[in-house]
Formats: sequence, structure tokens, C-alpha cells
Amino acid sequence: MAKFFAIFGNPVEHSLSPIMHNSAFIKLGFDGVYKKILLKDGKNLKKSFFEHNLSGANITVPHKEAAFKAADIVDDFAKEVGAVNTLVLKDNKLYGYNTDAPGFVYSIKKYKDLKNILILGAGGTAKAVAPALKNEGYEISILNRGQERLEYFKKRGFDSFSFKDFKISNFDLIVNMTSAGLKDNSLPAPKELLEELFKNAKVAIDIIYGKTTPFLKTAKEFNLQTADGLDMLVGQGVLAFDYFTNHQYNLQDVENIMKNALLKS
Ligand code: NDP
Repeated sequence: MAKFFAIFGNPVEHSLSPIMHNSAFIKLGFDGVYKKILLKDGKNLKKSFFEHNLSGANITVPHKEAAFKAADIVDDFAKEVGAVNTLVLKDNKLYGYNTDAPGFVYSIKKYKDLKNILILGAGGTAKAVAPALKNEGYEISILNRGQERLEYFKKRGFDSFSFKDFKISNFDLIVNMTSAGLKDNSLPAPKELLEELFKNAKVAIDIIYGKTTPFLKTAKEFNLQTADGLDMLVGQGVLAFDYFTNHQYNLQDVENIMKNALLKS
């Protein structure tokens, strides 16, 4: 009997998750169907999950906190960030996970010899990804335009700077986790500062996907290895798929299938 899965969100029409998961179901021979469900009120998440007879779901904006509340058992990392993006039904209980930040960590495993990472930005994504990277042994610094959002990081012992008090040093990987470049053509930090950083870096990643942002364009001029946010998107999908299918497939195979499906779409 086919198992049903879905992504809940509002809006949800733009979601690429069905393409990723359905391609992997077909290519790996798993009898599953993955659809989109527009959910207006997060309070109805649990009810809707059972009405649709789902075995698992992903949850996107703005319902990740509602999913946290809907879960009967929440794993430790999802507890740390207070948000759930993956629900799995097991023995009549809903298990909640967060694969967003681990998806980013997964996506950078292919780069060898990365030690020092500079995260540009201090918003919601940086808050979840920084501790996930630190747990893996990377050394993390945060650089943000404004002071206010840095408090969260300072309290947790991260080296955190605004443009005013930042002193250039060597970082292997520079990641743009701001929304600069998403809807405009701005850089996430002053050009001269970025250029100094790129001189000594190995890799630059922008988590915005579907375009070459000014950040990535500048990094390419310095001949760095670059990647956009597609890898992070695929990373969270691979880890969610692994939960949905109870860890029975090779993650590299799942990743290749999902990435190809997105590149073709
Ligand atoms: P938030 O709104 O929580 O935070 C925005 C951050 O960007 C803040 O640190 C803000 O700095 C900074 N910022 C915004 N505009 C500029 C600018 N012009 N120059 C410098 N800094 C700026 O954002 P999220 O963490 O939710 O998302 C960040 C980005 O990540 C978005 O582009 C989003 O699309 C992308 N994303 C991609 C994912 C993927 O799977 N690939 C997953 C999740 C997010 P300040 O404090 O100074 O205002």
C-alpha cells in the first residue's frame, strides 16, 4: 500500500519538495506519494495530518513552531531551535525533527579541510545553523550588519561582530546567510571587506538559490569554489527522506536523484 507524505505551508505553491521526494520515491522504488497542502491555521496541522492519512510531512513557513507543538516527541536538535520541519508517524506517535540546519551541515561535508567558518547574517537561519556547525567541530564566527541580533550569539559564546568592530582574519568558508541579494542586488557586507575575506578563503556559499547573487559573483572573481542554496535545500530534503523511509537508502543516491530532479525542473 502506498504511503502518503506532504509539505504544509502558507504559501506552499512554490515548494520544490514534491519534485525532490517524488523523484526519489520513483527512482528508488519506494511506494510513496508526496503532495502540497496549503494550511492556513497552524492549529489544524495535526488534524490535517491524520485526515490526509499521512505517514510523514515537511513543514515550511509559517508553521514550523506549530509543528513543534503538534509533535508528541521532539528530537534534541529541534528542541534547541524550537522549530520542527519534519514530522514522522511511528507507532501512532508524531516524531518531530529539524533538518534545515543539519541539511546545511550535510551539504558542506564534501569540502575537505574546512575549519574556520564565517557566517554573514544573524537571522533565523544563522541561529539554527551556527550551533549545528559548532556541534560538528567547526569554528564559527558571526558577522552582521546590525548589533541587535548578535546578542543571541554572544550569549552562546560565538565570536560575533558587526561591521564596526570586525577585524579581518582567515576563514576557509564564507557563507551568506543574510537576505542581501534575494530581491535586490546588494552585497551582505561592504565590498572591500568581502574582497579581503575572499583573498584567503577556499569556499563561498550563498544560501539563496536560483540566481548568482552579487556575493557569489564577487567570490567567483577570486576563483573560490562556490555553491548556491540549492545544496542546502537538497540537504534538508535528503535528511527528511531518510526519516520518512526509516534510514534504508544510501544518502548519496538520494542526494543525486533530488539534485538532478531540481536541475531539470
Ligand atoms: P532573517 O530575516 O531572519 O534575517 C535576515 C538577516 O539578513 C539579518 O541578519 C539582517 O541583518 C541581514 N540582512 C538583510 N538585508 C541585508 C543587507 N542588505 N545587508 C546586510 N545584511 C542584511 O532571514 P532568514 O535567516 O530567515 O533567511 C536568510 C536568507 O536565507 C534568505 O535569503 C532566505 O531566502 C535564505 N534561506 C535559504 C534556505 C535554503 O534552503 N537554501 C533555507 C532558509 C533560508 P540586520 O540584523 O542588520 O537586519
